[in-house]
Amino acid sequence: MNLEPCPFFIGGEWLQPNVAGTPVFNPSTGDTIAECPIGTVADVNAAVEAAHAAFPAWMETPPVERARILGKFKMLMDENFEDIVRSNTREHGKTLVESRGDVKRGIEVVEFALGVPSLMMGEVLENVARGIDCEAIRQPLGVCVGITPFNFPAMVPLWMYPIAIACGNTFVLKPSEKVPLTAIKIAKLLEKAGLPKGVLNIVHGGREVVDALLTHPKVKAISFVGSTPIARYIYEVGTKHGKRVQSNGGAKNYVIIMPDADVENSTRGVIEAAFGCAGERCMAGSTAVVVGAAEKLVLPTLVEATKRIKVGPTDREAQPDMGALISRQHANRVQELISIGEQQGAKVLADGRGVKVNEAPNGFYVGATILDHVQTGTTVAKEEIFGPVLNVMHMEDLGAAIELANKSMYGNGASIFTRSGKAAREFKHSAKAGMIGINIGVPASMAWFPFNGWDESFFGDLHMQGREGVQFFTQQKVTTSRWFSYGEGDIWHTEKK
Ligand code: NAD
Repeated sequence: MNLEPCPFFIGGEWLQPNVAGTPVFNPSTGDTIAECPIGTVADVNAAVEAAHAAFPAWMETPPVERARILGKFKMLMDENFEDIVRSNTREHGKTLVESRGDVKRGIEVVEFALGVPSLMMGEVLENVARGIDCEAIRQPLGVCVGITPFNFPAMVPLWMYPIAIACGNTFVLKPSEKVPLTAIKIAKLLEKAGLPKGVLNIVHGGREVVDALLTHPKVKAISFVGSTPIARYIYEVGTKHGKRVQSNGGAKNYVIIMPDADVENSTRGVIEAAFGCAGERCMAGSTAVVVGAAEKLVLPTLVEATKRIKVGPTDREAQPDMGALISRQHANRVQELISIGEQQGAKVLADGRGVKVNEAPNGFYVGATILDHVQTGTTVAKEEIFGPVLNVMHMEDLGAAIELANKSMYGNGASIFTRSGKAAREFKHSAKAGMIGINIGVPASMAWFPFNGWDESFFGDLHMQGREGVQFFTQQKVTTSRWFSYGEGDIWHTEKK
């Protein structure tokens, strides 16, 4: 099979390096579709230098002109939408419907960034003292960096660089070495839209490349999305080297189902939250807490619906309900965790281990799984499984359910299914998470709002997307000014008289 090229993009040139690579798979079939080159410090230096050289002219480009290039980019994204979607599915394994969501959410960030002339506007106050005015303006930082995970090949890089470059920064992206191809495809559209050379650069690689980016003296800011241990590392090393850092980590999100919840809608919501994108989502609703009678009302329907989920290859027209996981190694780990959960006392109500997919026997599949009566403190209760596994826990009342959810070290999302406004309000007020869903299983913020993780799900001060994104990628300059009439206050002139 012909491998797809996986070049670096440095200073406006697409470079196919002659270095060792790591395989990029089509998870649906297990085939290798590309080799992702593992870059070195020299590649990082070249990319950062290119971004640094492009910065002065890009910073001076009027915001409205920068926005126009992004406008063309958005039109090209729309025109090439299905092509991007298929690339996304091919290297990630998610269904085409899920890929469409992934790409759409990314395009929405571009739409948000188009408003940059308004978004970057500053503040002015006349007469802070008599005859003295004060103004705060926003200026770009310089070279910014994005390091992204495998699970949203289109959307997560687009959380970062459209806002960064709209604000006048230049950018170096290091996509996940597991899914570098969609990021390349999208960057080619931005190049076609007329982005000047060096404003966006791409380097591939692993830890060596990341460390070189984190410590490079010409890098001003780092945006990271990935697992919590790496997110913490990025934050610590980046800030130690004087960078601005926003670093999103992993999660374990609770979905509370109250006894008065609408059975059909809450079942659909929980299924979508737990098994959408095969559970490989930082906003996956991976633990359902059934409150009181909800266990009798909702759980049987939930189990039945889970057993009906059809797993299969997503790289063809006939689409399954759920696709493959990112790698064989990860699929094995998820199955191992299911077994550990069972050994530690959970009851397997739906079992996705060893699922057979005859039309693609080498794909990385795990079927939808429900572990019931998961106990706090067990491995599956604590670890982010990042696969199609729903833990179920049982609580007597809402207070106990909130207390349970709030013990999590993470703080990305938390949802409730209920018909009671009172319960919903109590939950919204007390839940210890940055994105709350009320009768919504995956309350992921859209482009106009911050993607708002708390606790171990986020390290930093300013989140990605929305106005916080603009604040992150700009620094304020405050000017205080006073003007005199000619000769007024001229001591030398006065003394001479
Ligand atoms: P990961 O942490 O393994 O990798 C993320 C990035 O870090 C990749 O680009 C990778 O090359 C790099 N990396 C990996 N190990 C490194 C190391 N030792 N040193 C330096 N860099 C390293 O994450 P992943 O498996 O690609 O993605 C899944 C994780 O991302 C999950 O934990 C998920 O919850 C999280 N995630 C979080 C959000 C969010 O917004 N909170 C969104 C999407 C995914």
